[in-house]
Amino acid sequence: MSTKYVYLFSEGNANMRELLGGKGANLAEMTNIGLPVPQGFTITTEACTRYYDDGRQISDDIMTEVMEYVAKIEEINGKKFGDLKNPLLVSVRSGARASMPGMMDTILNLGLNDDVVAAMIAGNPDPKFERFVYDSYRRFIQMFSDVVMSVGKKYFEQLIDKMKAEKGVVYDVDLTAADLKELAQQFKAEYKNQLGEDFPSDPIVQLKEAIKAVFRSWDNPRANVYRRDNDIPYSWGTAVTVMPMVFGNLNENSGTGVAFTRDPATGEKKLMGEFLTNAQGEDVVAGVRTPMPISQMEEKFPAAFEQFKQVCATLEDHYRDMQDMEFTVENGKLYMLQCRNGKRTAQAALKIACDLVDEGMIDEKQAVLMIDPRNLDTLLHPQFDTAALKAATPIGKGLGASPGAACGQIVFTADDAIAAKKAKKKVVLVRLETSPEDITGMKAAEGILTVRGGMTSHAAVVARGMGECCVSGCGDIKMDEENKQFELAGKTFHEGDCISIDGTTGNIYDGLIPTVDAQIAGEFGRIMGWADKYRQLKVRTNADTPKDAAKAVELGAQGIGLTRTEHMFFDPDRIAAFREMICSDTLEERVAALAKIEPMQQSDFEGIYEAMEGRPVTIRFLDPPLHEFVPTEEEDIELLANAQGKSVEQIKNIIASLHEFNPMMGHRGCRLAVTYPEIAEMQTRAVIKAALAVNARHAGEYTVVPEIMIPLTGEVKELKYVKDVVVKTADEIIAQSGKELKYLVGTMIEIPRAALTADAMATEAEFFSFGTNDLTQMTFGFSRDDAGKFLGAYYDKKIYENDPFAKVDQVGVGQLVAMACQKGRATRPDIHLGVCGEHGGDPSSVEFFHKTGLDYVSCSPFRVPIARLAAAQAAIKNPRK
Ligand code: PEP
Ligand code: MG
Repeated sequence: MSTKYVYLFSEGNANMRELLGGKGANLAEMTNIGLPVPQGFTITTEACTRYYDDGRQISDDIMTEVMEYVAKIEEINGKKFGDLKNPLLVSVRSGARASMPGMMDTILNLGLNDDVVAAMIAGNPDPKFERFVYDSYRRFIQMFSDVVMSVGKKYFEQLIDKMKAEKGVVYDVDLTAADLKELAQQFKAEYKNQLGEDFPSDPIVQLKEAIKAVFRSWDNPRANVYRRDNDIPYSWGTAVTVMPMVFGNLNENSGTGVAFTRDPATGEKKLMGEFLTNAQGEDVVAGVRTPMPISQMEEKFPAAFEQFKQVCATLEDHYRDMQDMEFTVENGKLYMLQCRNGKRTAQAALKIACDLVDEGMIDEKQAVLMIDPRNLDTLLHPQFDTAALKAATPIGKGLGASPGAACGQIVFTADDAIAAKKAKKKVVLVRLETSPEDITGMKAAEGILTVRGGMTSHAAVVARGMGECCVSGCGDIKMDEENKQFELAGKTFHEGDCISIDGTTGNIYDGLIPTVDAQIAGEFGRIMGWADKYRQLKVRTNADTPKDAAKAVELGAQGIGLTRTEHMFFDPDRIAAFREMICSDTLEERVAALAKIEPMQQSDFEGIYEAMEGRPVTIRFLDPPLHEFVPTEEEDIELLANAQGKSVEQIKNIIASLHEFNPMMGHRGCRLAVTYPEIAEMQTRAVIKAALAVNARHAGEYTVVPEIMIPLTGEVKELKYVKDVVVKTADEIIAQSGKELKYLVGTMIEIPRAALTADAMATEAEFFSFGTNDLTQMTFGFSRDDAGKFLGAYYDKKIYENDPFAKVDQVGVGQLVAMACQKGRATRPDIHLGVCGEHGGDPSSVEFFHKTGLDYVSCSPFRVPIARLAAAQAAIKNPRK
């Protein structure tokens, strides 16, 4: 049987997301449960994939099927495309499997042309109706030109502004039928002027072009960025929904709105939303007019509002989750245009999940699965210091559209925000309103402040999705974007001035307000408790200082998976001694330098052991890429020369001799210990003496069992050589101390050869920790430090969809991990296995490590809660035996 590419709403259901996209599947489901939905059809995601396979063309067979369904909905709705009595007008909208709000394209009022417009007006003598028809027509021309033909919106907006100025009115609604009629003609002329051809009047041509535009929008730059950020594969494609129009802009007895069954910012159980009378959907979302709160809809449309409340209850009960809905009231009658599980802030997500459990709607496991681990990040970000916040006086207020605290210098464009981020400056992006082109700039900023737009405006929705603080709709701001300044509370703010914004209250403050660290408490704590109950992977942290270690414990770390000992020497007080060590040219000089370093290391280790209170601590031996440590400044070189009693010339020669063409593959890791075993001896002494000291200090409380980790090994004899040095040194000290001390020696697996020979490596190593940063670098053969320069081209060309340094490459690097686990266990069944590369804190990578059977993941302190939750989700979805 040939593939079916088109489905009526009545032919689908909620389980068909993959084929019908979220929007199409939910419209079908709402139809099935008897809610008022204008009856249309959905073209499948498979048709989108075909469109790309066929060289960005809609094949004739698909178009024929579409036309059959056009006939079906004409029949169902009793209206016909291009008909002069009862014309069918439709919306054409995108809908991917996962919702991507605002990323793809929509066209409304499709099917209008001069004849249809004239016939509609002739059939209804009400002058207000005439105005409505021309309003719809000019909107359609504008949207079609912009979305389908890429003629910039601005040309049309300029014409509207000019018309408003000529007529002396402020709002679009104040333009008369004659004004709008004139505008529609001006728009068509502009279309011809821009494209050199007439605006297409045939509704079928309009439809075909619109469908293509939606398919095409799957591949637009903002959708590609959004997908990369949200782990949505390019291969999914988007569906297209074609639905008969209902008109919120028909008259004053009509309107349109967007609502949530619970507050998407706080999670509170109350109907939240916004509504505009005499308007079409995009007016609410685009932030062009600031809408009224949904509660006021009750006064305007009591019957429709009552019905809408029931619909909300039905939908929540049906989907067992907070719903985000779009609806329209046409002549007092309610129509549902969309529903989906609503995007929400991390705070709201936690509250909603806990409330749903308490309401008996879902169980703990479902609650754990409902939270996107990546969103937790925002909860861990600093909040305003309460005392400082109390003492500060707000200078203005907008809507608290996405919670969090943001302070920084003001910038006015997305590009400036991006540039500031590169320069490591913190900025707040201030805009009249944001549009989808701003997304990268929004991400680069600490927070977003807009003059126009409500809780569901683009800025608000996108900021919540990104977990970024946003205050929207502060109408008191007098914006002068051109001159990069604005006025608020009688003061002029220029680019570079500092402000603070509070995304919870919507308050705006002059200057910077200090922030404090967040805590895991309340609902956050409850969800994390459930996560810990169900997860099977342990979560450790990568920490180099007692302070980081303590923070990580607070965030739930069960041990340290990686202490990078070289990081302890970045400190200006210490780097001198370290440089003496690497720039020594005799054994005596090196031993003298090491003697200075040893007590520093020992006291660091003692601090870390104490912070971890007996939890496992893995200390990795030195792995300094030398180029990161050799002095380059003249004054540092002189300092070193003086310390070692050498001439500047001699030091420069040593530095020159240390130069490597490829430091990442150079004299680093265990190679340093093979060349200079005295370094490994010193580090072993520090590790062991620190453990003995802490165990003595805390006898009866806890016992430290240090885990010594040898980095960058690729050959078992090399590992054995270094291990022998460690064991000899350690055992001597332990024997001298007269105390017992257990310690482990293991290795990192971060060179492909180590993974390939893991069975041999396991004869020496008591544990493996996968260094997936280097393993990725060496497996792909591209540098961790330089890949950023060319990965962009790989994303554009769809060769890679993600940064393999952020998300583990399961197909290649992942196979090495799986193989090494299996080989390691074959040799040493109780070998302990973990990962300490950056991937240990990435949710989809954590899922992979769970499936691969590792014992733990280790990640930076602030990602510990993310890894805990991701591990729980992986275990709930794929429990290990
Ligand atoms: C790794 O390579 O994954 C690792 C954790 O070590 P580093 O990042 O210090 O090279
Ligand atoms: Mg490494």
